[in-house]
Amino acid sequence: MDLDAVATLLAGEPAYRRRQVWEWTARGAASYGEMTNLPRNTRALLEDEVPFSTLLPAHAARSKDGTVKVLFHTAEEHPVEAVLMRYRDGRRSVCLSSQSGCPLTCTFCATGTMQFRRNLTAWEILDQALYFRRLEAIDHVVFMGMGEPMLNIDAVVAAARLLPDLGVTHRRTTVSTVGWLPGLTRFIDEVEQPIRLALSLHAAADALRSELMPVNDRYPLEDVLAECRRYVQLRRRKVFVEYVMLAGVNDAPEHAEQLAAVLDKSSFKVNLIPYNPTGMYDGSSRDAIAAFKHVLDRARLPATVRLTRGRDIAAACGQLAASA
Ligand code: SF4
Repeated sequence: MDLDAVATLLAGEPAYRRRQVWEWTARGAASYGEMTNLPRNTRALLEDEVPFSTLLPAHAARSKDGTVKVLFHTAEEHPVEAVLMRYRDGRRSVCLSSQSGCPLTCTFCATGTMQFRRNLTAWEILDQALYFRRLEAIDHVVFMGMGEPMLNIDAVVAAARLLPDLGVTHRRTTVSTVGWLPGLTRFIDEVEQPIRLALSLHAAADALRSELMPVNDRYPLEDVLAECRRYVQLRRRKVFVEYVMLAGVNDAPEHAEQLAAVLDKSSFKVNLIPYNPTGMYDGSSRDAIAAFKHVLDRARLPATVRLTRGRDIAAACGQLAASA
């Protein structure tokens, strides 16, 4: 819902009307009609003038594990995908997109092969979460869908700041980056809320990282890690490091040693991500992932292996490409 459009439309009404509309929406109302503390003619006016959602769901796919992936269209029909992950322990985590497509062309990522359309507005980002909020309560959000969040930092932060109204605290909100330094620097300096930071690292040596992620030529890993350490010092929170496991590419024990050498255990926590094939690479075997983790364990660098969700509906990490 475009709350700015709501505020403009209701400019002649008491200021609290905008807040009432938002409170109903954030709690999962499905239409203006449900907002019973608004005058009937105000509801009718809103229905006529401001679409209830800035995004239209075009297709939904449900995985065997309960994961739901939804393809939305913006008003100009640009594709946007978001995913609801349901975990056995009850967690309900939503993965949001910040852009339609992505200009950064990481070679292992399906989104990078799509045409980049544009940044999403804060309302378009929130409407993805609100869609799932209407299905059930949600408690975690990760900005790891289509797009590089730090390229759209203003809208991402504006959306993240409103997520507690939907039931997602800042501590349960994570913004992920491949290392787009201008946005990362602003995130560190400007965001005082305890929103978490994740870095998609994927290779500790510059040559391999540049091959996988061309952004590394522009902003080398050393500079990005220095900025992450500044976040740790300033905000007193560790940075999550995402490392996607590509068979025969970045999954050898020596790659793990390189990783342990560049990350200090007091600042970083590693999340190893079993790769979901997108055509270009194969995922590492379980044994290769275990051997890699063993090296990190020996170096006492905290590391976990991510539980992969939604693989059968191409909703897992690196698979979002609007193919639904
Ligand atoms: S991994 Fe992220 S930054 Fe890289 S192409 Fe995919 S969406 Fe863009």
